[in-house]
Amino acid sequence: MINVTKTFLPPIDDYNKQVQRAWDNQWLTNRGELVLELEEKLKDYLSISNIIITNNGTIPLQIALKLLGRKGEIITTPFSYVATTAAIVWENCTPVFVDIHPEYLTIDETKIEAAITDKTTAILATHVFGNPCNVIEIEAIAKRYNLKVIYDAAHCFGVKYNGKSIFDYGDISTCSFHATKLFHTGEGGAMFAKDIDLQHQLFYSHNFGHKGVLAFHGLGINGKMSELQAAMGLTVLPYMEMIINERKKVVAFYNDKLDFSKLRGLKMRNNTDWNYSYYAVIFETEDQLLRVERDLNENEIFPRRYFYPSLNTIEYTKGMPMSISESIASRILCLPLYVGLSAVDMTKIVTLINENLC
Ligand SMILES: *Cc1c(COP(=O)(O)O)cnc(C)c1O
Repeated sequence: MINVTKTFLPPIDDYNKQVQRAWDNQWLTNRGELVLELEEKLKDYLSISNIIITNNGTIPLQIALKLLGRKGEIITTPFSYVATTAAIVWENCTPVFVDIHPEYLTIDETKIEAAITDKTTAILATHVFGNPCNVIEIEAIAKRYNLKVIYDAAHCFGVKYNGKSIFDYGDISTCSFHATKLFHTGEGGAMFAKDIDLQHQLFYSHNFGHKGVLAFHGLGINGKMSELQAAMGLTVLPYMEMIINERKKVVAFYNDKLDFSKLRGLKMRNNTDWNYSYYAVIFETEDQLLRVERDLNENEIFPRRYFYPSLNTIEYTKGMPMSISESIASRILCLPLYVGLSAVDMTKIVTLINENLC
């Protein structure tokens, strides 16, 4: 069976060596030696000055919205994983959808201003499949209207834009280290902020608000990564160069062999160092997609309809129609992309797709 992704599992002996450290320390969580070491190594790897690693990639969104959304209206994208919108609703904020750019698939920054009201507190946008939003223009709009900017950068491990880490953009940026993501800790995630005050708020928020043992800086929740998760991260991290190189080969194969007279791919924003995290193809019609999907499924190949449905159509969001996002969501498919996908399998996938493009 071929799925859209396959979790990279490092040699178990490597993992056991890291886990042994937790046994030796008799210390399983509360920011032990492995978590602290992983944070340092990630700062190095990503060329960033600050990071707080967390137990998943959703809690950073919730913390960011608690601190910056403050129960207001959040301008957001309908084209993302459900966690982006669910976090807004969960934090008692109101999602206000703005349609996406038809080629970049990120929020259409030219439509943001029309959606701002006196209740708007923040913009929460997703860098889709590692493709950055127009961060420069979004920052300018946010400044003009005194709004905060949060980026769901769950797909962006290692992405650089204009020569610096994509995590450096926005007031708060978040990442996911879920098992299906490029770099993983089983479950896990991270949050980033440049402002020192905000870093402090993020930090205490992810640790119950603690100020030492007996006092509190403010409200908090449990967002801590455990030593066992960090052990996986420390084991996977040395393989990242290999992982990205192998994925690059799969992407090159698809780029070369798919019939782009009837399909299109994602348009990458200029000045992006991409991370080869997802391979999306957009069909001309949903019927075409369904035909291809059925044929692939019959051959035990399971691509994923990322992202479907468009989030403005989910019952609890009460969103307005978003014609571009709804249209793209109905026609987009993410193809299998992982270390170890064989040339035979890739050829099979490409052949089954090209044959169905009539
Ligand atoms: C994976 C993902 C998340 C959630 O991350 P978890 O680590 O699974 O909690 C949020 N947003 C997007 C866009 C994602 O793809």
